[in-house]
Amino acid sequence: LAGRGAPYLDDLNPAQRAAVEALDGPVLMLAGAGTGKTKALTSRIVHLLNLSKARPNEILAVTFTNKAAREMKMRVGRLLGEVAEGMPWMGTFHSLSVKILRRHAELVGLKPNFTILDTDDQLRLLKQLISAANIDEKRWPARLLASLIDGWKNRALTPDRVPSSDASAYNNRGTELYEAYQDRLKTLNAVDFGDLLLHCVTIFQKHEDVLAQYQRWFRYILVDEYQDTNVCQYLWLRLLAQAHKNICCVGDDDQSIYGWRGAEVGNILRFEKDFPGAQVIRLEQNYRSTAHILAAASGIIAANKGRLGKTLWTAGEPGEKVRLIGHWDGEEEARWIGEEVEAIQRGTRGMDPIDLNRQAILVRASHQMRAFEDRFLTIGLPYRVIGGPRFYERQEIRDAMAYFRLAVSPDDDLAFERVINLPKRGLGDKAQADIQRLARGAGVSLLDGAREAVAKSTFGGKGGAQLRAFVEGVDRWHLATLHPEYDHIRLAETILEESGYTEMWQNDKTPEAPGRLDNLKELVKALEQFDNLQGFLEHVSLIMDNETEGAEEKVTIMTLHAAKGLEFPVIFLPGWEDGLFPSQRSMDESGLKGLEEERRLAYVGITRAEELCTISFASNRRVYGQWQSQLPSRFIDELPADHVEVLTAPGLYGGGYGAAASVGFGSNLEERVSKADVYNSPGWRRMQEQASHRPMAQPREARHMVIDAEAVSPYVLGDRVFHQKFGYGEIMAIEGDKLDIEFDHAGAKKVVARWVVPADQ
Ligand code: ATP
Ligand code: MG
Repeated sequence: LAGRGAPYLDDLNPAQRAAVEALDGPVLMLAGAGTGKTKALTSRIVHLLNLSKARPNEILAVTFTNKAAREMKMRVGRLLGEVAEGMPWMGTFHSLSVKILRRHAELVGLKPNFTILDTDDQLRLLKQLISAANIDEKRWPARLLASLIDGWKNRALTPDRVPSSDASAYNNRGTELYEAYQDRLKTLNAVDFGDLLLHCVTIFQKHEDVLAQYQRWFRYILVDEYQDTNVCQYLWLRLLAQAHKNICCVGDDDQSIYGWRGAEVGNILRFEKDFPGAQVIRLEQNYRSTAHILAAASGIIAANKGRLGKTLWTAGEPGEKVRLIGHWDGEEEARWIGEEVEAIQRGTRGMDPIDLNRQAILVRASHQMRAFEDRFLTIGLPYRVIGGPRFYERQEIRDAMAYFRLAVSPDDDLAFERVINLPKRGLGDKAQADIQRLARGAGVSLLDGAREAVAKSTFGGKGGAQLRAFVEGVDRWHLATLHPEYDHIRLAETILEESGYTEMWQNDKTPEAPGRLDNLKELVKALEQFDNLQGFLEHVSLIMDNETEGAEEKVTIMTLHAAKGLEFPVIFLPGWEDGLFPSQRSMDESGLKGLEEERRLAYVGITRAEELCTISFASNRRVYGQWQSQLPSRFIDELPADHVEVLTAPGLYGGGYGAAASVGFGSNLEERVSKADVYNSPGWRRMQEQASHRPMAQPREARHMVIDAEAVSPYVLGDRVFHQKFGYGEIMAIEGDKLDIEFDHAGAKKVVARWVVPADQ
């Protein structure tokens, strides 16, 4: 059979072909990045149809993102050509669940035209319920409840099933609130995202006839990125697959990166238990990346302990080594990457030109995107941001900018409306309507209307006092902007502080809050490139207008999480610094779980690259106008030296590729890149020296860093030292240029000697 009339089988290797031809019974395809798992999965669908094993709508294929579903539809469409009558069910767990739920909505008390709530609606609803239950929302915010409920839904826990150990939040009334929330949703004929799957599972569990109908219907089930399924998704799959047991799951335990959202890599291990007799197929040949890129990725992931372990090889060229470069600060990193992208686009270093669509920048945290967006807009380099709004469109950024706008133009009514009750000042809809009436009556701005209300003592109590403080605040900030030499960065910080806006997010206990605070810091950082707030606001409004839509080719900026399953010839991985990548949270956690997930994310990042992969870090990042020194990521230490080329500092040797210099690594494959190699490379040192002559303010230890650049460690055990981030401490051990220091407040840390100064200096 094989081969005849099946050209799609011809470009598969034997293992892939076995995976495609093992159509019946449970199959688990467990293989590393770029081995053609998704390709094999797609070919299976075509093969099923080609052999008439099933009609298109008897096939259910689950992908991780809508983008992946679109790509799979395209590939299947292309492979099938004209003959396809109808398409298989292809989509994400959520999109497929909506389809099923619409048909059986009444079984969970909904009408078929139910609405799907967005996060804002959801939060508003939860807020009402919390206050109706007389619970202090300051202590128990709605966002926290939203994330608890989401977690329960991911674990397929309806209110009656939430274990008592989980129920202590909200004064032991968490489950009660969850139940009330579900009732409210029903009354509103609405569902949230988590409900889509959970309702399906509930229907399947309670209505055997419905389940049986779908079980018969879906003869073949296929699942991509299986390592990232959560418990609820797993149940959904297992229920549907029970009749035919023709389920094929494809995954890579090394790419499991959604543990923080309830994904259970254990589902892979459970597969063989739940589906006895499952065939396990391993693919080992990587078709995506050059040998150097693959070796670098394998070197990093080898440091993880909890792995199933697998072999990966490529028949391809060694290609370019993974490039590693250190920068003085984040802005310089963005500038350099912008230049590189353009150089690669033109064709450089004997490589053919690679257009912008085939280049991507993958960041760990979305706040890193801002520096790239600003830089690319400045030089007119078209870009697209995938997964999440562009930096200046984010909620907290728009809020903060509304405050800045008020400071610059107190008559900006839209800005006034946005922030008058943010944070809560007891000035709700009714109070705002009163202010509006006053303003309209007198033909003045809302701020002046508010001033009037204060003068007339229109509002009593908390609202009145807060309104007075708000008006006085705006007046003060506005006055500051009129001073010819005002410090706009300081002013921006003052505004965010005095308005209570920063504090609002500091008190917020939800998982998104730290990210929002980071974005605010990033916003203040962006101000440094401007002379005043006015200039900055103009720049941003230009950015908003100056959408680079329409341009054909664009370089992609996205998070590492969003990049899963994708591939690009050219990948940039910026910000490899401890605290950023791996994230501070994963480093603070006890145990290795968080850190190992970060390492898998590094593996995902490197393995997206086909031809050229560049890792970079900055030694300084500015936070709130203050220098913060950064240590290169611990993952850099784990890169195998033979597959890495350390580039010298940009712009010092004339820039470009001519500046590349391999540092003297040994030939031992196991040897790792050491940060000392980077620091001692001539370019890095020159960069530090040059930086030390710059007129800008120098961080304390950056100056010493230059002085100490040659030394291994000038310290002896017991020396007292000072570190800008960790404060004072005592040296407990010395290992080359690394010091084990017991900090008075920050506890035990390992730091590089040049980042501390003697305490008596
Ligand atoms: P990931 O783990 O990152 O999702 P994957 O295992 O799903 O990767 P694919 O995306 O399916 O890998 O394939 C990676 C690349 O290798 C694709 O460009 C694909 O077209 C190519 N490829 C896969 N198998 C072969 C093959 N037998 N011959 C030639 N190219 C192949
Ligand atoms: Mg894939």
